[in-house]
Amino acid sequence: MKIPTELINYLKKASRVAVLTGAGISAESGLKTFRDSQDGHWAKYRPEDLATPEAFARDPKLVWDWYTMRRNKVAEASPNSGHFALVELERLIPHFTLITQNVDGYHRQAGSKNVLELHGNIQKVKCYDGCGVVEDWDEDDNIPRCPKCGAYLRPDVVWFGESLPLDALEKAHQATLESQAFLSIGTSGLVQPAASLAHTARQKGAIVAEINLDPTPLTPHVDFALHGKSGEILPQLVEEVWG
Ligand code: NAD
Ligand code: ZN
Repeated sequence: MKIPTELINYLKKASRVAVLTGAGISAESGLKTFRDSQDGHWAKYRPEDLATPEAFARDPKLVWDWYTMRRNKVAEASPNSGHFALVELERLIPHFTLITQNVDGYHRQAGSKNVLELHGNIQKVKCYDGCGVVEDWDEDDNIPRCPKCGAYLRPDVVWFGESLPLDALEKAHQATLESQAFLSIGTSGLVQPAASLAHTARQKGAIVAEINLDPTPLTPHVDFALHGKSGEILPQLVEEVWG
């Protein structure tokens, strides 16, 4: 892949960079996107019927088992060269913010520090009653109980119909407004409000680059569209800009 010289030269000078990642960056780890993951026993369910507060109220064990399956897949795989290239980027850029829609926790696991997880983390659980308890998810077939109030513990992810964590969202917005370069990586750009961040960056004068296997609805609006695997393009980018 030929990375445009203009992009390389721009990034060399940039001190404020914001990055948004989606399920695509974890595809090369072997984690499937939402829809592809519905195989075997789970094929008869739609994610929209499992990843909701209503679904958990109706049949907590069903939802718990589905997340256990997804969490096990995350635990069996690991971060890939795309995640590690972003760790490198954080080391090289003075003000670097990594905004992710992924729940796999791979950015932190790879070593990224300034990570904003907009959709939560599947490797954690929190109190269903909202008393504030958050814990690491221990291996458990049965739904664990909150040590403080006795309610069920549930996956610490944002479900359909729930609002995003306000603090992370505000920080993401701020980093986007201040960014000189904004990279949108492996996201279809359909899920709001993350989808609008790239447009916000552009309006404030940042250059916007997209790294994706395929064109997305964002593609016509970006300054640079790099089509290919993020696990190949990101290490190459790091090498060409800072190598
Ligand atoms: P998406 O599934 O809508 O889109 C994934 C994008 O990645 C697509 O545009 C695809 O072309 C691209 N892609 C696939 N393989 C790639 C590769 N190797 N390199 C670069 N790009 C590649 O994902 P989304 O935009 O993140 O939105 C889906 C929602 O599902 C999110 O809200 C997220 O929380 C959730 N989700 C998360 C995970 C995870 O944590 N790993 C997995 C599945 C779904
Ligand atoms: Zn509680």
